[in-house]
Amino acid sequence: MDSRLPETSRKKLEAWFRYYHDLNFGEFYIDRRTMGKRSVKPPAVGAQIAAPALLLSASAATAAKIGASPTSALPVVQDSSLFEAIDRVEGDTLQIISENLGECTRCRLHKKRNKIVFGAGNARAQLVFVGEGPGHDEDMQGLPFVGRAGKLLTQMIEAMGLTREDVYICNVVKCRPPENRKPEDDEVATCSPYLYRQLDVIAPKAIVCLGGVAAQTLLKTKDPISRFRGNWYDFRNTKLLATYHPAYLLRNPAAKSEVWRDLQKVMAHLGLKAKKAPR
Ligand code: SF4
Repeated sequence: MDSRLPETSRKKLEAWFRYYHDLNFGEFYIDRRTMGKRSVKPPAVGAQIAAPALLLSASAATAAKIGASPTSALPVVQDSSLFEAIDRVEGDTLQIISENLGECTRCRLHKKRNKIVFGAGNARAQLVFVGEGPGHDEDMQGLPFVGRAGKLLTQMIEAMGLTREDVYICNVVKCRPPENRKPEDDEVATCSPYLYRQLDVIAPKAIVCLGGVAAQTLLKTKDPISRFRGNWYDFRNTKLLATYHPAYLLRNPAAKSEVWRDLQKVMAHLGLKAKKAPR
């Protein structure tokens, strides 16, 4: 019997291994307990193949040490990113992460994107803003937060006494979801390891999540942002605070005062003095 994989399946398997290699996973083995009564029929040509049942070489103790552990009682979602189970990548840089990402086709969002929006700003920033995903303007320019919401974010940053060059800005997913829909769970799971690496490399003093998707991704919760907005949490030894997305503020200007109160907490944490509240 010819046991070779069909070409399409082989390519997909190769892509999965490249993906995990990029994330610094060096050892894989198949958990045969999970194979149980599974059919051993080779996949049909062109069939979708799932990620192999991989177990990581990292110990449970390491996972417990590294994993995010918000100080609140937020319900934790169990399908955490594999990347969280390993130590920080030694010698990692934003450039290496960007090169690993390459012309990424790891999730369906690549199909309609114009440009990958990796992130921009100070690689040694004390403050990182994390949004949900690129919109139309960002997709066209390859830069984060450059549309109307981006202009408002710039005003917020300047009101904090900073410039965009002082901070780092990125998103959970690096490609624009069609029609600006929310990224799906599997898209977030595929792309977020690169965000984790960016945050590990920058090692800021504070992370501000802009909107529910960013906060839910990093805090591992499905709770609505209204449940935890404005509170501090611990994220991999960094302080994390969630506030509303600037796009939400464009639709609901009355919420600006709440966001300004949140940003004042961040400024106090960073030892910054405000210029004036953004209008
Ligand atoms: S969203 Fe992320 S994982 Fe998906 S194609 Fe773009 S860069 Fe790759």
